[in-house]
Amino acid sequence: MTTSAEHIGVSERRSAHNYHPLPIVIHEAHGAWVTDVEGRRYLDFLSGYSSLNFGHGNPKILQTAHEQLDNLTLTSRAFYHDQFAAFCAGLGDLTGKDMILPMNTGAEAVETAIKVARKWGYQVKGVAPEQANIIVMEDNFHGRTTTIISFSTDPDAHDDFGPYTPGFTVVKYGSVEAIRDAIDANTVAVLLEPIQGEAGVLVPPDGYLRQVRELCTSQGILMIADEIQSGLGRTGKTFACDHEGVVPDMYILGKALGGGVVPVSAIAADEDVLGVIKPGQHGSTFGGNPLACAVGNAVIEILNTGEFQERAAQLGEVLHARLREMIGHGVVTVRGRGLWAGVDIDPSLATGREVSKALMARGVLAKDTHGSTIRLAPPIVISQEDLLWAVDQLADAIASFR
Ligand SMILES: *Cc1c(COP(=O)(O)O)cnc(C)c1O
Repeated sequence: MTTSAEHIGVSERRSAHNYHPLPIVIHEAHGAWVTDVEGRRYLDFLSGYSSLNFGHGNPKILQTAHEQLDNLTLTSRAFYHDQFAAFCAGLGDLTGKDMILPMNTGAEAVETAIKVARKWGYQVKGVAPEQANIIVMEDNFHGRTTTIISFSTDPDAHDDFGPYTPGFTVVKYGSVEAIRDAIDANTVAVLLEPIQGEAGVLVPPDGYLRQVRELCTSQGILMIADEIQSGLGRTGKTFACDHEGVVPDMYILGKALGGGVVPVSAIAADEDVLGVIKPGQHGSTFGGNPLACAVGNAVIEILNTGEFQERAAQLGEVLHARLREMIGHGVVTVRGRGLWAGVDIDPSLATGREVSKALMARGVLAKDTHGSTIRLAPPIVISQEDLLWAVDQLADAIASFR
């Protein structure tokens, strides 16, 4: 197979249609740029949904991965290995938490957080058996397992996959009152994204996270922040919660934690919470494997320098200033933080997908989220020049529909 058309033809026939990819077949990538099988180059403005925060083929991460591949790749958790302690201690220090529970994918880490919160509810808080309840948000995205989609409000994610897992109460995102009204004696946790990525990079009102934190503390329930997409530098801070000086009881991390190389996820919490899990009660064959931990350790070292957080903050200012100029020129609203933006295109002009295709024709890869929203999340290694060039392409792509 040589041409894009051939690859796409076979993929369409032989793979399930659970995604609707743009018609590009990528062959290689470095930094913020990808090259397709015909040799055309594109600027990546999606970063694997923020899995590639540190760029494609980040030299430090790749070198670590290569060395680890040659030494040791898998032990299972039946034994310790020499990358494990550094990963747990390093991620614990980065999050300010006592303990780590490593998994692989984001959804698994969310499942882990749900299990830990429930066990904590029964064993520490004293909730009656089988009654634990977790408050979640409208338009949430936490992954694709049957339990997680049970509390999704997106019909595509949710419908026809029942029977559904009980124990969740959905409330409006951004409203502290809605959470307060939903809390009862069986509530064990509030689970939220500090910025809702899949929903269109929705930033909650100022003070919301702080008020949720205070409410959870005063009510004796856990605040769980799903920072899988918002965390690890994307917003200009290590965690999106940092923008409000908020520390949740549990962080859920994934995506960029794997450096764009392997799936690495984890939850981080203090011992009074994560200590409820005892041998045999949770696990994963691949979770915390040597390759994952080595790559994770490289990511943690990168984050400890603060360079990427700083860069995302600086370039984010540039990005948002330029995007704001487009409001009224085919753009209705712009949201986001750091190097992360949701751009609502005037729906009378084009759908998000149509704009994404027009953008691809101009050499920039981005993806629509819902309806007429485009999500912009370039690798943080991007140059300012490339960033501004890509936004010019977006303006041009939108103008082509006017
Ligand atoms: C991507 C994502 C997940 C799920 O991660 P997977 O690795 O795809 O299972 C969960 N929560 C948020 C906020 C995400 O962006």
